[in-house]
Amino acid sequence: METKIVKRDGKEVLFSIDKIKDAISKAFIASGTFATEETLTAVLSHLRVRSGMGVEDIQNQVEVALMAEGYFQVAKNYMVYRYKHSEDRETLEKLNFLIDYCSASNAATGSKYDANANVEKKNIATLIGELPKSNYIRLNRRLLTNRIEKMFGKEVADKYINLLNTHVLYKNDETSLANYCASVTMYPWLLEGTKAIGGNAVAPTNLKAFCGGFVNMVFMVSSMLSGACATPEFLMYMNYFCEKEYGEDYYKRADEVVELSLKNRTIDKILTDCFQQVVYSINQPAGARNYQSVFWNISYYDRYYFESIFGDFRFPDGEKPHWDSLNWLQKRFMRWFNQERTRAVLTFPVETMALLSENGDVKDKEYADFTAQMYAEGHSFFTYMSDSADSLASCCRLRNEITDNGFSYTLGAGGVSTGSKSVLTINLNRAIQYAVRQGIAYQDYIEQVVDLMHKVQLAYDANLHELQKQGMLPLFDSGFVNLSRQYLTIGVNGLVEGAEFLGIKITDNDDYAHYVQEVLGIIEKKNKEYRTKDVMFNCEMIPAENVGVKHAKWDKEDGYVVPRECYNSYFYVVEDESLNVMDKFKLHGRRYVEHLTGGSALHCNLEEHLSQAQYRNLLRVAAQEGTNYFTFNIPNTVCNKCGHIDKRYLKACPECGSTDLDYLTRIIGYLKRISNFSEARQREAARRYYANQSKLGQAV
Ligand SMILES: [Zn+2]
Repeated sequence: METKIVKRDGKEVLFSIDKIKDAISKAFIASGTFATEETLTAVLSHLRVRSGMGVEDIQNQVEVALMAEGYFQVAKNYMVYRYKHSEDRETLEKLNFLIDYCSASNAATGSKYDANANVEKKNIATLIGELPKSNYIRLNRRLLTNRIEKMFGKEVADKYINLLNTHVLYKNDETSLANYCASVTMYPWLLEGTKAIGGNAVAPTNLKAFCGGFVNMVFMVSSMLSGACATPEFLMYMNYFCEKEYGEDYYKRADEVVELSLKNRTIDKILTDCFQQVVYSINQPAGARNYQSVFWNISYYDRYYFESIFGDFRFPDGEKPHWDSLNWLQKRFMRWFNQERTRAVLTFPVETMALLSENGDVKDKEYADFTAQMYAEGHSFFTYMSDSADSLASCCRLRNEITDNGFSYTLGAGGVSTGSKSVLTINLNRAIQYAVRQGIAYQDYIEQVVDLMHKVQLAYDANLHELQKQGMLPLFDSGFVNLSRQYLTIGVNGLVEGAEFLGIKITDNDDYAHYVQEVLGIIEKKNKEYRTKDVMFNCEMIPAENVGVKHAKWDKEDGYVVPRECYNSYFYVVEDESLNVMDKFKLHGRRYVEHLTGGSALHCNLEEHLSQAQYRNLLRVAAQEGTNYFTFNIPNTVCNKCGHIDKRYLKACPECGSTDLDYLTRIIGYLKRISNFSEARQREAARRYYANQSKLGQAV
């Protein structure tokens, strides 16, 4: 049988003994001697080469073999030769990358490792951020495999690298050293400002200090995370400072002039100016994040969620949060943000409305009506619906079980502090097809891979604890993020494509439901098996902004069945025109999302806005079907000529008639100009199917 080994770039090549002989001979010559055929045979007899092994691994063995045979000077020259080669190769790679990046059509297309549309324009600052990424990948891999070896042995570490190289597994955010995303509690900030995380700001004592300080705090926290920073308490805290400033009934006196300057600002004007300051500041490109803005998420709550999460909450001065004023402020912010988005392209915050369901409808009717109204007015946000307030979606997609909702005077509301430490993703389409090729049951193969994924995640976790021990993670030490409330996430991609390969129809039918439950059930089972009091696992259908494209490309190159250029992040096929809106709600309903403990949002693509009554009906549908996480996407139109932004999906600008238009839509969780998407993602966006009124389905 021929042996295939894996090159540094992940490509498999036929193993050639002559190449190794040649390199060893050169090292002998560089040492002033000559290797006879007997010498070479003796050295080579130490090597153990098997399929799937990496080039570096074999070179390491050669070094050991030379030393074992007593050729120490030759071994040294061989190492020097390797090192020089890798140095040359690296410089050349970087140079090529630099040339490609500068000539790419936009930043997301130019990025080689983790393209993302959150970078508006490519420039020298974004290039500086891109260049060291390959080194980070190498460093992160080494840190992780060293730890895996220590905890589970070399075989597990080798298997992991092999699964990465053969694209069964994908390690998300390998280009960053920081852990992934977090929903933070701002309580430590109220107690002692940003000192505990290395800042110099004291705790805010008034509204102005709150707004300015909040922006700084989010930037600081985000610089220590690789993913999103969610602040589910933002409006609740802001409300507290509004009350401090203008009295508990401030919202009843919103039109009152409270400023003595010539501007004569009312309470309402001052508050919307605060919104403006915070939102515009946070949407600025951030130096610490390679010139992309920070990913910022906030939450709104209906009355029942509010009571469940903040019922026992007390501010440091003993004050309770008040629902009536917060209710007003939440609505004010949402309406303001919807309006502001006709003035500027504002990506953040990603907003999630948390609604409690009961008896097939939203329990808080006032909030159900308001949510439907905001959708009808063209606002774009997520809704998270649950029949118990025991989980919360705080990131643009991450659903988290609230393990401890207690309040403490040092940490604030327990329920909001959560997130994901690390995401490791299985490419299900590849795994299933590989298993079928090998003649083994795909369920067994997936179980094997998923088991290994848990070991890898435990090793990641051990490294994180090590960092914390050395004082490198002040976010955790200071209580902004609670390490034991953060999940290790098993991501899935290619779920739909794997089913298509097996010949299963992607509609709401028993075969498909069985397949989804079976595959995700394997992960859920392992998540429970590996859970301890210190580590928790969840499962998420990852949004795969660039992984979806990469998986499709790699799988195609290796001869697997690949039905589309970008793997889906949904339970249905995005370009499928035969499914109506009801079908999609069903396909993201309880039958399918049951084991998806980390969440997956239905992105309901519509051609035009629905009425409030229609959205209200869809909220009922969601409550009945158990569709716990969804949003509606109606592309907004941006005129490139006059700058007009319209909430509708138009073919010509209503202001100037120009047809030079760009559209805003969600790439994954966040709203961006389509022209900022990577080229592959732009093609994917063009294939998305947007339903019209005739495709709503019966109940609507
Ligand atoms: Zn125009």
